Amino acid sequence: LIRLEGVTKRFGDNTVLDHLDFSVAAGKHVTLIGPSGSGKTTILRLLMTLIKPDEGTIVVDGQHLFPASEKQCREVRKRIGMVFQQFNLFPNMTVLRNITEAPVTVLGLTRDEAVERARELLDLVGLADKCDAHPAQLSGGQQQRVAIARALAMRPKVLLLDEVTSALDPELVAGVLDLLRDIARSTDITMLCVTHEMNFARDISDKVLMFDSGRVIEAGAPEKIFSEPEHDRTREFLSAVL
Ligand code: ATP
Repeated sequence: LIRLEGVTKRFGDNTVLDHLDFSVAAGKHVTLIGPSGSGKTTILRLLMTLIKPDEGTIVVDGQHLFPASEKQCREVRKRIGMVFQQFNLFPNMTVLRNITEAPVTVLGLTRDEAVERARELLDLVGLADKCDAHPAQLSGGQQQRVAIARALAMRPKVLLLDEVTSALDPELVAGVLDLLRDIARSTDITMLCVTHEMNFARDISDKVLMFDSGRVIEAGAPEKIFSEPEHDRTREFLSAVL
């Protein structure tokens, strides 16, 4: 469903991604791990067509992204849900409105349809009683649950998760990760996660990619990467974070 071939991205003299190749099959859960600054977030931003690569091919759900028309990029973005480290909810809208806005304006659902879908999702994320709250009235963990519901409301084929628990107080992390575990188990959504939560990565991933300096230096099943890493750099990284 997602394929990157020879993808290179530079910011000035800084080569952030260096002829990167990897793919994610439909329905699979792939996790990117690696040191800070190794280019993980940049990959997610490329997939969302927020930035362009300098070289290489990126294909999402059959659509080549670069070059692609603005309309083609929009179509691809519709099929991708993204959840960010900092929630990025619309602060001036209620929780319900945060979730219904894009399905109405982008997918063309009626407001009633969007509200029905939003209520189901708020049930799923355990916040049915918060529809009329504004984001500032919620804890970080609750805001992140709303952000997850908002992403799912678009019925995306792909969910991109960018360190979604990094900004949370420690006691709120487990709840959000449990929710994502449930979603991974109970849906056929394709997931690409950037995370520093190694237990979570181990639980949900079909495949883990270890990144360093803009390249995948090791890839494999989580049991393999976490128990018998081949690369020294992977071993060093894991011993620092585990
Ligand atoms: P982290 O775990 O800290 O989020 P990461 O692996 O996700 O790290 P990226 O955010 O992809 O890393 O950043 C990779 C490198 O690209 C960093 O050196 C960063 O400073 C640089 N970078 C990212 N975006 C830009 C930009 N818009 N302009 C210049 N440099 C950038």
